[in-house]
Amino acid sequence: MGARSHASDAGTGLRPSGIRLFVDRPLAAGADVALDRAQAHYLRNVMRVQAGSALALFNPRDGEWRATLETVGKNEAVCRPVEQVRTPAPEPDLWLVFAPVKRGPVDLVAQKATELGVAALQPVFTRRTAVSRVNAERLRAIAVEAAEQCERLSVPEIRAPLPLDRLLAEWPLDRHILLCDETGAATGAAPPVAAALAAAATPAGAPWAVFVGPEGGYAPEELDAIRKLTIVTPASLGDRILRADTAAIAALACWQALLGDWGKQT
Ligand code: SAH
Repeated sequence: MGARSHASDAGTGLRPSGIRLFVDRPLAAGADVALDRAQAHYLRNVMRVQAGSALALFNPRDGEWRATLETVGKNEAVCRPVEQVRTPAPEPDLWLVFAPVKRGPVDLVAQKATELGVAALQPVFTRRTAVSRVNAERLRAIAVEAAEQCERLSVPEIRAPLPLDRLLAEWPLDRHILLCDETGAATGAAPPVAAALAAAATPAGAPWAVFVGPEGGYAPEELDAIRKLTIVTPASLGDRILRADTAAIAALACWQALLGDWGKQT
């Protein structure tokens, strides 16, 4: 659970704690919300926040609310939303489809993809995927903490892993694919990512997904299968071979800068 300095709650006399917590329950003025055990422990024992302090609660349906901590005990805490300070605002409709790598890098990918505004993380098993399972609970906890820290109003969905052939068979054909392909630079089959995204010329807000392969790369027949989909944009991230986690972060950053919400003039 991240903490960020918030403007002091001028006029309310509440001690601002700078803490934001994701609560997947309705937020409305005066309607008390019971936090879960981990959140109560965090407030009481880690951040030593006392009853009467102000904090922020958020979720994608209700936006962000200033709230007061009414009670905080060993395993329970109750907050009372006071006023909505941010209205709901969805992240761009962007998925990250990645072949899970070892624990450390995959945790990094979950955290960085959350900060980079991904709406869903879709682990996919490919021919050369090195791991056989994904700890969705752990990735979700990492995503919640990253969402709290980076001040987004939603938490990316951590989808159940799928084998690549099934994912492609069920792929929604309105969702464009940015295929990170390190094999195509030499043959020109994968143009530089900026040119590739510009050439895709998708309307603002169109759904996209970034595909990144496993440490060993996609098998040739897998690349062929992905390229067969009409909505695929192969792209090179330069001549250096990036680790899968690096490629995911770099590709997401490119997409946000060129097609996503980094271009928004705030
Ligand atoms: N085949 C590589 C390893 C793949 S790197 C090797 O022989 O070492 C893991 C994934 O990151 C790739 O499947 C690809 O999706 C992405 N990636 C890595 N470097 C890239 C680059 N320069 N351009 C595009 N994608 C890249």
